[in-house]
Amino acid sequence: MIQADTIVRSTCPYCGVGCQLDLHIRDNLIYRVGASFDSGPNYGLLCVKGRFGHDFLWHPDRLTTPLIRRNGHLEPASWDEALGLVADRLASIRAESGPDAIALLCSAKCTNEENYLMQKLARQVIGTHNIDHCARL
Ligand code: SF4
Repeated sequence: MIQADTIVRSTCPYCGVGCQLDLHIRDNLIYRVGASFDSGPNYGLLCVKGRFGHDFLWHPDRLTTPLIRRNGHLEPASWDEALGLVADRLASIRAESGPDAIALLCSAKCTNEENYLMQKLARQVIGTHNIDHCARL
């Protein structure tokens, strides 16, 4: 059996349940994910995503920076540049076609607070009730 250099308690990023994970780390890599029986809300249990869904961390295809399509090609961009472009495009769509031409889709990987802010952005900033959540798909 592999011995961990360290075990780090963390919170599963996949949904709002907030299961506690024990990340077994060796040579700076997570090689096993477990859960403690004395820690809630999961008390030793993990679903398949929480227990096995961590190999994306070092996947070579993982996006590590925003990409903007220019002349048909995706190019790396800064967060300020990407968020500025999204804000400009949302503003122009709203001006041309009205707020209901825009819909926002939230994620179970966000916190409750982030999802709350998303519906505030939809309703109070953009002016649409077109807001939904991936858990309903
Ligand atoms: S282990 Fe499964 S149920 Fe628990 S937080 Fe992660 S995705 Fe949600």
